[in-house]
Amino acid sequence: MVCRFGDGDVAVAPSGRLYPCERLVGEDTREELRIGDVEHGIDVGVRDRMLAQKSVVDPECAACELRGRCKHWCGCTNWETTGSLGRFSPLVCWLERSFIAEADRVASTLWAEKNPTFMRRFYRPAIGPT
Ligand code: SF4
Ligand code: SF4
Repeated sequence: MVCRFGDGDVAVAPSGRLYPCERLVGEDTREELRIGDVEHGIDVGVRDRMLAQKSVVDPECAACELRGRCKHWCGCTNWETTGSLGRFSPLVCWLERSFIAEADRVASTLWAEKNPTFMRRFYRPAIGPT
């Protein structure tokens, strides 16, 4: 599981209010992002509704070959950039595509030179213990 958003992870604001992720606490003023408080615990219904919103997969992402490498599922990033937990923004899409392309470029260079740290970190199971 890549993100436990309120279901295993919870953020507690200094006020005692609970949020599904620390990045959503902000100034602790956004009632629509709260899932409870320390006195009453987590409101599971609210938490589950937010989880369902975050889990929506945009058709463009569902068909995208980069889907498994992209953080289109980050509800916090989606919220900050589109106001919706489940909708990615074109800017995030562009950034993710750029980061992935750059990661591939760097990895190709390191692979070509058989960089020892790179090989140990990513290919040790394939090449055996060093
Ligand atoms: S955000 Fe963009 S790059 Fe990422 S899965 Fe969706 S369409 Fe693909
Ligand atoms: S929604 Fe994004 S920032 Fe929040 S816990 Fe999940 S991956 Fe992390």
